[in-house]
Amino acid sequence: MAIATTNPATGETVREFDELSDDALEQALQRAHDAFRSYRHTSFDDRAGWLRRAADILDDETEELARLATLEMGKTIGAARAEVGKSALGLRWYADHAERILADVPWSPRSAPEGARVFTRYEPLGPVLAVMPWNFPYWQVFRFAAPALMAGNVGLLKHASNVPQVALAIEDVLRRAGLPEGAFQTLLLSSSRIEGVIDDDRVRAATLTGSEPAGREVGARAGANVKTSVLELGGSDPFVVLPSADLDAAVEQGVQSRLLNNGQSCINAKRFILHDDVADEFERRLVAAFEELTVGDPFDEDTDLGPLSQPQGVEDLDRQVRDSVAAGARVLTGGKPLDGPGNHYPATVLTDIPENAPAHREELFGPVALLFRARDVDDAIRIANDSPFGLGGSVWTTDPAEQERCVNEIETGMVYVNTLTASTPEVPFGGTKNSGYGRELADFGPTSFVNAKTVWIQ
Ligand code: NDP
Repeated sequence: MAIATTNPATGETVREFDELSDDALEQALQRAHDAFRSYRHTSFDDRAGWLRRAADILDDETEELARLATLEMGKTIGAARAEVGKSALGLRWYADHAERILADVPWSPRSAPEGARVFTRYEPLGPVLAVMPWNFPYWQVFRFAAPALMAGNVGLLKHASNVPQVALAIEDVLRRAGLPEGAFQTLLLSSSRIEGVIDDDRVRAATLTGSEPAGREVGARAGANVKTSVLELGGSDPFVVLPSADLDAAVEQGVQSRLLNNGQSCINAKRFILHDDVADEFERRLVAAFEELTVGDPFDEDTDLGPLSQPQGVEDLDRQVRDSVAAGARVLTGGKPLDGPGNHYPATVLTDIPENAPAHREELFGPVALLFRARDVDDAIRIANDSPFGLGGSVWTTDPAEQERCVNEIETGMVYVNTLTASTPEVPFGGTKNSGYGRELADFGPTSFVNAKTVWIQ
C-alpha cells in the first residue's frame, strides 16, 4: 500500500511520501538505541515536562491537527478536534501519574532478615515499536507513547500508510515539546518491512493496534524473538438491551456507539442483542435515528456520518452485507454504498441474521448495526459470547442480578453497564479471545513495557 494522503471524501490523492531507505531505517534504529542510553536516566520530572509541553502544543494547534486527521482518514471535524483534546488529556494524565505507578513495590518475605530491603523496580526495556492504525490516528499513538515514554522507553512509530502527515505531525509535536533527539521517531515504512524491525536486536518490544491478521503476524514475530508484545485487535462488541433498561438512553447511546468514528472504532457497539419484550420498539427507534443522519463531507460541521477511510473498507463492508443478505439477512435501512465520489456508506441496519452469514461472526468495520433477538438473559449472554472476539460490551438493565450475571459471564475485556463502552486514560483498556492480549491505559500502560526487576538487599 502506497504511503500517501488520499482524501476519503473525494478519492483525490493529495500527497505521496517515499518510504525510508534501508540506510535511513538503519540510522533511525541506531538513533533510537543511542537515545535510550541517556533517555532512560532522565527524571520523571523531565519526562512529565516534555509530555505537558506536548499537550499544550496539541491544545494550541488543535484546529490544524484535527484538519489533518479529517483530510487523511475522514472522521468528522468535530470528532477530530475531540480526539486531539483527548490525546492532550492522556499526555497530562501520565505526566501526573506515571511516577506513582512506576514506584518501587516493596515485599516482605518471611525468609528475609531484619533490615533487608526487598522490592520490585520497574526498568524500561528500550526502543519499543508501535504499529498503529488510522482510525484514531492521534489517540492510539499517544495512548502508547505517553506511558511508554514516562517509563523511560523510547518509541518507534510505524503508522498506517494512509495517515503519514499525522504520523509526521506527532513526531514533530514531541520534538518541539523538547523530547530528546531520537526518543520518538516516525518510520515511514510499509508493513512488509515490519518483520525486519521486530527482528532487530535494538528493538526490545512491539505493540500493535489493528486487525486480527496483522496482530497475529506481529505477535508471532515478537514471540519468535522472545520479545514482549501487546495486541489491541478488532472487536464485534455486544450491546445487550433487557426489559428493565431505560430505552430512551439505550437507543440514544446505541446510535452513538455504533456510529462513533463513522462506524470504524474497535469498541463500536456492533451486535445489538435485544430482549424480545423491547426488540420491536428498539429496532423502530434505531432505524428512525439512522435515517435522520446527515451523511457527507466530514469538514462540514453539520455532517453526522463521514466517509469510510479507504475504498477497501467500503468494498469489504459491501461484500459482508451482500453475502449476509444472500444468506437470509434483511436490510431495514441503508445496505449499499452511496453513489458519487468518496468512500460513503450509509447507516445500515441488518436483522434476521443467520448463523452462516458473515455478519454473524465477522467484524463489520463501518456503520452497520446488526440486530439479534434474545428470549431471556441466558439467551442474551449466549449470543453475546458467540463471537471469536472479546473486546468490550455494553449491557442495559437496572436489575442488579442481571447486571451481576452479565458482568461475570460475558467473555470480554471490558463490560459497561447502562452506558456505552468508552476509553479514558484513567481506566484500563483491552480485550480477550481474538481481540488481543495485554492492557493499555491507567496503571497498566506504563508497566506493559518494563522489566519488573526483583531486588533483594540484605
Ligand atoms: P490493519 O491491521 O491493516 O492496520 C493496522 C496497522 O498495522 C497499520 O499500521 C498497518 O500498516 C499495519 N499492518 C498491517 N498488516 C501488517 C503486517 N502484516 N505486519 C505488520 N504491520 C501490519 O488494520 P486496518 O487498517 O484494517 O484497521 C482496522 C482494524 O483495526 C479493525 O479490525 C479494528 O477493529 C482494529 N482496531 C483495533 C483497535 C483496538 O484498540 N483494539 C483500535 C483500532 C482498530 P499499513 O497501513 O501500512 O498496512
